[in-house]
Amino acid sequence: MSTEAYSTADKIDAQLPQLQCQRCGYPSCRQFAEAVSDGDAPGNRCDPGGIRVLNLLNSIVGQTHQALDQNFDSPLLPTGVVIRESECIGCTLCIQACPVAAIIGAGKLMHTVISTDCTACELCLPVCPVNCISPINFQKKETSTFQRSLTTQSSHHRLNFERWQRRTEPTPIERTYSNEASLREEIARSVARVRVKRSKLNQEHPPRERGAA
Ligand code: SF4
Ligand code: SF4
Repeated sequence: MSTEAYSTADKIDAQLPQLQCQRCGYPSCRQFAEAVSDGDAPGNRCDPGGIRVLNLLNSIVGQTHQALDQNFDSPLLPTGVVIRESECIGCTLCIQACPVAAIIGAGKLMHTVISTDCTACELCLPVCPVNCISPINFQKKETSTFQRSLTTQSSHHRLNFERWQRRTEPTPIERTYSNEASLREEIARSVARVRVKRSKLNQEHPPRERGAA
């Protein structure tokens, strides 16, 4: 990717709502921004951003879309979700699905949503095995109230998403040994290397020489 294209992706990303909702068909706002910048996606697919974001993207990339793609255009969107705590079985699947760490709870303990952090992306809904999460407070997305709330909260959501990404990123050793089996094999090889070294040391310098009892 050229430096210029990256800069365009930055400009697009800065205008996106940062809900990380995947309604555009991409795993994150950033990836949608890069796809639009690279010409791989049209700029008329950010459902929550509506006409406001569509116009901003038109001006950045020089497109002339007049409306959102109808497959990416919901007139009403929720502004939060609620977990019916009496029905929650504490499975933690929603915690793992949430891109901004807006759900608190632990295994076998009921979970609850931090409403100020929730982007209403609805990604936790399909993973709940007992259907105890519901979207709430539906609003018309083209209203100035809805759009203003997107612009005022986007930095907060971006920060939470970046924090979540850092927490779920594999550690360097996990990256090198991408599955548990290869990590176990490497540990076994390390243990074997230490045993060989120790046995060599014992032969060259018996424990008594090294002050052992
Ligand atoms: S807020 Fe818009 S760009 Fe971001 S993930 Fe949702 S639909 Fe895609
Ligand atoms: S709690 Fe659910 S709807 Fe809210 S941000 Fe997390 S995954 Fe999305």
